[in-house]
Amino acid sequence: MKKFSLVILFSLIFSVKASAETWVNFPASWDVGQAFAISITSDQDYQDPTVTWQNRTVKLDVEDGGMGKISYGLLGSYVSKVKPGEYPIVFEFTQNKHRYKARGVIKLNPKEYPKEELHVQQKMISPKKKDLPRIKKESQLVGQALKTMSSKRKWRTPPGKPLDVMTLTSHYGFARVYNGVPRNGHAAADLRAATGTDVKAPFAGTVILTGNHYFAGGSVYIDSGNGVITVFFHLSKILVKPGQKVEDGTVIAKSGSTGRVTGPHLHYGINLAGQFVDPMPMYETSITKMLKLGQQAQVN
Ligand SMILES: [Zn+2]
Repeated sequence: MKKFSLVILFSLIFSVKASAETWVNFPASWDVGQAFAISITSDQDYQDPTVTWQNRTVKLDVEDGGMGKISYGLLGSYVSKVKPGEYPIVFEFTQNKHRYKARGVIKLNPKEYPKEELHVQQKMISPKKKDLPRIKKESQLVGQALKTMSSKRKWRTPPGKPLDVMTLTSHYGFARVYNGVPRNGHAAADLRAATGTDVKAPFAGTVILTGNHYFAGGSVYIDSGNGVITVFFHLSKILVKPGQKVEDGTVIAKSGSTGRVTGPHLHYGINLAGQFVDPMPMYETSITKMLKLGQQAQVN
């Protein structure tokens, strides 16, 4: 983790007092693996709001809110990548020509995600040497796609449903054991889907990557702004192209059983600024409800 100087919670970096009243909202603690909401609210306009979390800076939008202006963000932590503990969160924005910076700490609580035994073809556990360059190239493409940062919010809460009927067959976060070999926790929700089922975009956005990848099979990645990216794997047919704009509910693909699978299903992932979170609890809440569980701190 980066070293942070001067830990004074919500101290004003600039001594010039602006007449605006601006607040940030973030949770004091949250479960690892779960999405959480943050906001900046002000009675006056401000520019270029960002939030930095887990070494990634997210560009936020300034929208009209009830009492003035508001910026919304969705963040989280991938259970296989981030350990429980305390982590800094830093908000920045420009107001009345001053750049303000407010720092907080979020405590990530441990959450138990059980183990799951899977049996797949051995070539999917230990790929052949000739397949390694392909796997490496795909992993670079995916890494680039997941760094996409556009600042026009297209996501909303709760998300739309990628399948008309959402039946969970494999939970997010399962520490997976493939043919006896432990691997990373599951970065998505697996949903029951017969091959050929319509897969719909949960949010409006722009397709940033499609492909037939070694492990993921037929894949689609959609950027919905502010670091919110949805991913869909094991597709039998892809109906969109990179650069294409989609609406919430657009049929983007047909589900299938391509890549490293034990049978047909949809692997549905939500990545928030580089962190894969548990998609399912997001259907039980909203940004407003999540923000109510946060704490408010005044910046100016
Ligand atoms: Zn999966």
